Amino acid sequence: MRLANRLVGETQGELAKHILPGVTTLQLDKIAETFIRDHGATPAFLGHNGFPNSLCTSVNEQVVHGIPSAKTVLKEGDIVSIDCGTVLNGFVGDSAYTFCVGEVGTEVSKLLKITKEALYLGIQQAVEGRRVGDISFAIQSYCESQGYSVVRELVGHGIGRKMHESPEIPNYGRRGQGPLLRSGMCICIEPMINIGSKNVTIEQDGWTVRTKDRKCSAHFEHCIAIRPDGPQILSSFEFLEEVLGNNRII
Ligand code: MG
Ligand code: MG
Repeated sequence: MRLANRLVGETQGELAKHILPGVTTLQLDKIAETFIRDHGATPAFLGHNGFPNSLCTSVNEQVVHGIPSAKTVLKEGDIVSIDCGTVLNGFVGDSAYTFCVGEVGTEVSKLLKITKEALYLGIQQAVEGRRVGDISFAIQSYCESQGYSVVRELVGHGIGRKMHESPEIPNYGRRGQGPLLRSGMCICIEPMINIGSKNVTIEQDGWTVRTKDRKCSAHFEHCIAIRPDGPQILSSFEFLEEVLGNNRII
């Protein structure tokens, strides 16, 4: 699990070098697929439930599951959520990060900051003996207190030899409720947070989830292991943040 997730982090680092105005999301997809295969792994999303590509690339009001396309050219001020998965030695890695394309506005920048902070608040709750609802509540209460809304239709998940295993890890819920967290569990925590309303819809391609009001949405995801001494993050933003440099890290 550690190796598969580290490779996701390294792939995100490679992508970070190329996320600039003028690049297409299909170019990013090819860079990721090549990088993953060159490291002896396979892209986890490619063919998963029929998904056609190696990355999910979701721009601005798109929440998740955006399909890379030669027609989608990133431009200054966009945000792009990139979700990436690998299968290495039979185990799955899964992590997502919302990147800025050049400079973004302050409203969007704050959305990214709050969503990322919510991810880490959720991770803090991933402790043996607590419940899934403790993670959910930490994310929801923080984001809503900051004036943002939490997408309901998509959730985090257990992970291992398959990308999606039980339990589901919603980004909304009540403290003390839901499945018990145990040492040895691997889970993906992945807040999807909107500037406007929580409501989403699916685009005509049958995959892309976007906000109904077309306001921006952000998505950050880590894969973690619950250990006797607390949560351990298996995926990594370190590679991409090294590329972005301090001034572009949210
Ligand atoms: Mg993911
Ligand atoms: Mg996931």
